[in-house]
Order: sequence, then structure tokens, then C-alpha cells
Amino acid sequence: MSKPVRVRFAPSPTGPLHIGGVRTALFNYLFAKKNGGTFYLRIEDTDQNRFVPGAEAYIMEALEWLGIAPDETIGKNEKFGPYRQSERKPLYKEYADLLLNNGWAYYAFDTAESLDALRKSAEEQGKTFIYNHTVRQQLDNSLTHSAEKVAERINNGEEYVIRFKTPVDETLHLNDMIRGDIKFETNLLDDKVLFKSDGMPTYHLANIVDDHLMETSHVIRGEEWLPSLPLHELLYKAFGWEAPKFAHLPLILKPVGNGKLSKRDGDKLGFPVFPLDWIDPVTQEKSSGYREKGFFPEAVVNFLALLGWNDGTDQELFTLDEL
Ligand code: GLU
Repeated sequence: MSKPVRVRFAPSPTGPLHIGGVRTALFNYLFAKKNGGTFYLRIEDTDQNRFVPGAEAYIMEALEWLGIAPDETIGKNEKFGPYRQSERKPLYKEYADLLLNNGWAYYAFDTAESLDALRKSAEEQGKTFIYNHTVRQQLDNSLTHSAEKVAERINNGEEYVIRFKTPVDETLHLNDMIRGDIKFETNLLDDKVLFKSDGMPTYHLANIVDDHLMETSHVIRGEEWLPSLPLHELLYKAFGWEAPKFAHLPLILKPVGNGKLSKRDGDKLGFPVFPLDWIDPVTQEKSSGYREKGFFPEAVVNFLALLGWNDGTDQELFTLDEL
């Protein structure tokens, strides 16, 4: 029997939710409703440098206004624990340790200077710098040291990160519900940092651990995360967990030039990129939202649903139920 449908919207509170994010939330919401599943909200706030006060409340208010509020949300969830990653911090270290113990991760003691030197030398040879097995061998990191030596360095207060040990010379055959079958060569992947020197997990580790523990059945997110798919699939393998199904949605692009629509676009494009008004807490700069401009939430939902999609008829207005 297949798993019950459980999908999530997992924004990082690095600013207000823009309409690209709303579209991702909408697709998750609709997928849950269509399949009698659950849609939950998880706040991915492990990057403390990028945390913006007020962003989380904004996200919740925007989803509420649009009528796509999650079934389960932050605040304590009896079965799954808090849905705010900063409140789950000790858990991630345990999982990083698990990967260290089973040989899928390693301590790296590189300094900013040693990494810069490597980057420079790659540039001089006309190559892109990839932190992979070749670097693993060159650098003075734990792979060349005994467990005692690593413990000693940590006790001496040396800064370290924990990196994923990407397999060498493998071709991964992966599947995306939208893109179909995709091939990735592991030699082109970086040994990504899983655990940072500030004691916080990176997005990759926290995201995989939580999707597993929170029983996510399908990961529906923006296409900007497609390059992370091989690492995520490898992490599931490293933990011995069944991976969810993945669907990477094409992004909303700017009307002129190229590049995805982003929070930074504010009012510059001539149409709001935010569902609600937003005042930047640092600059006090105001960006307008659809709500304050007098748009109905139904109209915003309809326009986002029809971007890049059509049901094959001439119908132009859909209610949430119809969608
Ligand atoms: N926290 C990520 C973001 O803000 C979530 C990506 C994902 O859905 O896996 O886009």
C-alpha cells in the first residue's frame, strides 16, 4: 500500500513570501486536497544570518488570506514535534553523528584561507573548484586522521564542519515527477557541508531529516532545488530511508531579461511580487501587496494556478475547489 499523502511548504523566513513561494504552497495545498492528504507548514530557520523578523508571521497571514492555510502548522505537534527547525536543533547533530559513524560523512577542519587557495589554484588551471574526493585527499582533514586525532583537534577548539562524503565515479539515475528520468554524475558534486561550525545543521541535513521524520510523501518545490536532488537522494540512501517522490516546479521568471522572480524585486517590476504589503524591518522600504491593492485572494490564486497550466478548456476562472 502506498503511503498517505503528506506534503509540506517549507519556507525559510528570510523575508516576505513572494508569489513564486505562494505558487509552491498552492501546488502543495491542491495536491493534498486532491489526494485526501495533509498539507503542513515547516519553518526552515537554521540559517541565523538570514533570519528576518516578521517573515514567519507574514507567511502565515498570507497563506490564511489566500485560503490555502496548512492543516498542521507551527506550535507543537504531538506526533512530529515542533515545525520550526530552530526548535529541533539537538536532533540534527544526532543524525550528523550517525553519518559520521557509518562512513557517509567526515569532519573537515579547512580554514577560509586554505579553501581560498584551492579555489585560486583551480581558477588558474581554468577549472571550476569542486570540493570533492580529490580535495578530500589533499586537505588536512579527518580522513587522514584517527578518531583520537580528530577528538584532540576538536578539544583544542579548532573549528570544524561536517561534510557529506560523496561517492566517487557513480552515475545516479533519479526521477522527478515533472522532469522524468534524470542522470547525475557524482564526480560533479561537492562534498556539501551538513553541519556548520556554529553548531547548526545546513538546509540539506535539516530538510532531509525532517522530511523523513515528518513522513513527507511528496516533495513539491521550486526548480531551483533540482541541483540539490542528487545530494538529497544520496542522503536518504546514507540513512537507509525511503526517499519521498520529488516534483520540481518551473519557476516564475521576470518578464524582461532572465532570472527568477525574487523577493528583492519589490515594486520594481510594475506589479506586486508579494501577496501582502511588506515593510522591510531594516530599510523601512515598503513593497506593495495584492491584498492592499484591492485584489481578491481568489483572483490571486487563480492567476498563480494558471501560470504555466491549463486544463485543456477555455475556462479562465477556477475556484480552489475546482482546482
Ligand atoms: N527552505 C527551502 C526554501 O526556502 C525549502 C526548499 C524545499 O522545499 O526543500 O526554499
